[in-house]
Amino acid sequence: MTATAPRYMTRFRCLADACEDTCCAGLVVTVSEARWKRLRDAVAGGPDAARVEAFIRPDEGSGPGAEAAVIAKREDGHCAFLDERKLCSLHRAYGEAVLPDACATFPRVATRWGERLEVAGSLACPEVARLCLLAEDGVEPVPVSEDVAARPEIARRLGGDAWTGHAEAVRAVAMRLLQRREVPFASRLFALGQLALRLDGFYFQGTEAFSDEAEALLADVLRSFDAPEVLAELHAGFSDIALPGGPWAAICATVLKARLGFVRSERFAVLARAVLASYGGAESPDDVWRIHSERRAQLAPGLAERVEQYFRHHAVNHWLRHPFTDAPTLLDYVFRLTLRAAVLRWTLFGHPTVVSLCGVEDSPDARTRLDAAAVECFQLIAKHVEQAPELHSLAQGLAGKGGAETLGRMLVLLKGL
Ligand code: SF4
Repeated sequence: MTATAPRYMTRFRCLADACEDTCCAGLVVTVSEARWKRLRDAVAGGPDAARVEAFIRPDEGSGPGAEAAVIAKREDGHCAFLDERKLCSLHRAYGEAVLPDACATFPRVATRWGERLEVAGSLACPEVARLCLLAEDGVEPVPVSEDVAARPEIARRLGGDAWTGHAEAVRAVAMRLLQRREVPFASRLFALGQLALRLDGFYFQGTEAFSDEAEALLADVLRSFDAPEVLAELHAGFSDIALPGGPWAAICATVLKARLGFVRSERFAVLARAVLASYGGAESPDDVWRIHSERRAQLAPGLAERVEQYFRHHAVNHWLRHPFTDAPTLLDYVFRLTLRAAVLRWTLFGHPTVVSLCGVEDSPDARTRLDAAAVECFQLIAKHVEQAPELHSLAQGLAGKGGAETLGRMLVLLKGL
């Protein structure tokens, strides 16, 4: 046992043809030069050689995810190699070894922090979303075998400079803050924003000459954010801030509408249209905000507690799944996480099942229905919104110039959390 993973990954088994989605639907599947060659060798002279030749074409992209080749998609957005039972025909005929890395490892994401391997899951897989969000102990870290990563040899490596070298210590404090349930989720994110602002001037990607003094200051700031009185003080300060909810509702609606025109997924389109329609009678963002907050107020306390768990687990998993060191600053990372949580909250409370549960008593049946709606919202948003270029450009514009300005703008997003 040399790796760690959240407990839900030890419970994960692919649902294959029983899955309500498929991994490849709506996603770009790239192929490395080595895997492309391996596959061509495997099919050479056989009935699949022509299909491999026709459906795997050189990747013309040049972005960070670009590879040697890319697999063609059918009209419905599914992979060209998916068979009529929604199973991969290449996997069935030639085994796991010929699959591109993205297909063989999904929904697993492996990162090597120094020597230690860490495996997390993508909520873009509905089974991962279910296991991660719904089990009370789902995100507890546990030791696992490196095999859980599927291909541990391709895990990303982190470490080497001051930014990544201190990342585990920073992340540990952030994760503890997220788990502090004595204050509301929005106050915990606000505290994360404050922590990020305190580090903003000297701890960022590309920071040079990270002196002993900076190291001592970093340790000092991290220690202070572990203290219960600091969180209580930040919570009190945050609770005193009054902001209108209309801008929050307008931002969330913009994100969903922007994706509706691009995504080729019937499941996503049905959900997005239903959510927009559920708020749709309202003319102005302020009215949408009023409808949203009335729904929230009507949800039975036991069900609201369950919703709190979904968001806590989503945020913890986000820190595990997406290393914050990919962002230019910690504040940028926290801002984007807050934007994701805002869109999710708005979507969840626009889901027809959740709307029908507002004003209903807590019961096992109500919980089951709420859980199913949450899995659908979190999975489809993870798959079709969270990684979308539109969300990234919107986040960039909303965040402003960084520092105190970004934290100020983050308050608008926290309003609805
Ligand atoms: S989305 Fe998840 S459960 Fe569904 S087929 Fe892919 S890995 Fe399996």
